[in-house]
Amino acid sequence: MRPIDGTRIKESLTCERSPWLDFHGPRDRILQPTERMRVLFQSGQRLEERILAGMDVESVRFEPGRFDEGFAATLDAMTRRVPAIANGVLKLGEFLGRPDLLLLSDAGVYEVADIKSTQKVHAAAQMQIAFYSRMLGQIAKPPRFGHVILRSGERWTFALDEIAASLERLLARLQTLRNRVDSDPGPHRVEACTDCRWLAVCMDDLESSDDPSLAQDVTREQKAALASAGVTTLRAASAIADTRAVADAAGLAHDLVTRFARRARAVTEGRPQFYGAVRPELATADLALAAVVDDRAKDAIVAVAGIVASRPDRFRVRWLRTREHAQPQQEFAELVRNLARTQGPLLIYGPNVRRALEEGLDLDPSLADTVEALLARTLDVRGELRRACALPGFDRRPADAARAAGLTVDDDDGIDLAALRHLEDEASADVDSIARLLRRDLDVMLALRTFVLAGTASS
Ligand code: SF4
Repeated sequence: MRPIDGTRIKESLTCERSPWLDFHGPRDRILQPTERMRVLFQSGQRLEERILAGMDVESVRFEPGRFDEGFAATLDAMTRRVPAIANGVLKLGEFLGRPDLLLLSDAGVYEVADIKSTQKVHAAAQMQIAFYSRMLGQIAKPPRFGHVILRSGERWTFALDEIAASLERLLARLQTLRNRVDSDPGPHRVEACTDCRWLAVCMDDLESSDDPSLAQDVTREQKAALASAGVTTLRAASAIADTRAVADAAGLAHDLVTRFARRARAVTEGRPQFYGAVRPELATADLALAAVVDDRAKDAIVAVAGIVASRPDRFRVRWLRTREHAQPQQEFAELVRNLARTQGPLLIYGPNVRRALEEGLDLDPSLADTVEALLARTLDVRGELRRACALPGFDRRPADAARAAGLTVDDDDGIDLAALRHLEDEASADVDSIARLLRRDLDVMLALRTFVLAGTASS
């Protein structure tokens, strides 16, 4: 039986079926990592090497997969009071821990530090560190603190007792998933499925059971509530006639059930469903903005681009990330002032542009009033799409929505991967990939505008 380890701790917070399949699923159906996952994995490895290279550490050596050997070598290093131990192994019964670093504190206690390729501390990272620390406490003096080393190299320290109770609940749940083959949480379609090694197994299960989550944007809890009202399949969801009665029976908001029934209909019929009207300004807006936001980095706002709908040759990118451009403050100020000279709504898609404008104020707080006026002019194409129609697919990014709407999307994977490689690999000079991504997003956004206007006009 496979052990409970840090990966399963982390993945169970996104989808409980993933660890269950790791314990009981058909291993011959595991998919190879997607190219996106490979890029992220390699980036994580490079970051770890870079951070460890700047530290005085002793690395535990053992043959790949021989964790008993690794555990013995880790214990040996701890016995010798090595100040910083990298690549250690903790192995106790059904638990396996691979902490990035064991650091000897001033109080003479070993503490866990994990290197994360983000700039924010996520619950999953804390939970993994708490798990390793719990194991550490069974073989040495229990640590009181855990540490996350962020992408920038900064260290973030937290008290382990803050999440000790949550960790115990999570471990109990993982033990149930491991020890009981009948504890399958079942598949549930979420965006994370796209890169999941179990996608082939789960898609078969989802389709054969006609699972309501194929309509997307429905949580497991909402799916269970709908089931309690007798709606257990996508077909049943698409056939809901009395949405109010279902909402009352399920204890869900009426709006939510109405939206869900429409999405279910879009998926079962394989085409968008139009049912409402858009704001009139959507038709007249002539300026569209897009931004690349890299949440994994400290200076998250990478670039903002604009295009004039009636003159698509008028496309411009402003670079706001320090390492990409020498003068982000000047770029931001020019961006804001140029936009302030325009009139009419500013088409955007989702939260990125608003975030870029708001966070850009850190570069020049004197522009607060002008930025506020610009934010008031934004008109979200995704919001208008949702107001007027249900798509048979995800709509988080413009390209996703366009694909769901049946529109042609240029070189979708290639552009996204090139941009991701650029963001993940600081040595990459392919700045053009970001410009291509922004141009693609803007073109797609304008195509979505045409699509929704045509659909609402004819419905
Ligand atoms: S494919 Fe989706 S439902 Fe299945 S294990 Fe992966 S994330 Fe969970």
